[in-house]
Amino acid sequence: YTDTITKKNGGKAMYLKNEDVKFESVENARGGKGTIRKTSFLTKEEMKESSRLFGKIIIPPGCSFGYHVHEKEGEAYHILAGKGMYNDNGTEYEVNAGDTTYTMSGCGHGIENIGDTDLEIIALILLDK
Ligand code: MN
Repeated sequence: YTDTITKKNGGKAMYLKNEDVKFESVENARGGKGTIRKTSFLTKEEMKESSRLFGKIIIPPGCSFGYHVHEKEGEAYHILAGKGMYNDNGTEYEVNAGDTTYTMSGCGHGIENIGDTDLEIIALILLDK
């Protein structure tokens, strides 16, 4: 998607406009229900060795991102909109807009949209050093 980025400061900074963000559809993400959409705001080069994802996940009503375990990395979710049932390493609780979760290395998580509007999440995966 680099062709859609407006480069400033001689390419040392970037500005990705909302309308230029391209989403990828993923069916049964990690064994989840239905089709979710996801995007990564930054390239591998921009994230260097710190992260492997800074992006957004959109889960339509009734769909889910299946439970999975992270190894040698942790992942934070920040809920932007909607209502979800979050599985935090085996413990389930409801999450809503403004809430943040974090799964550390060796632990797992998953999330299901239990509302009637899209569940929008910012996801950040940080690599262990
Ligand atoms: Mn994850």
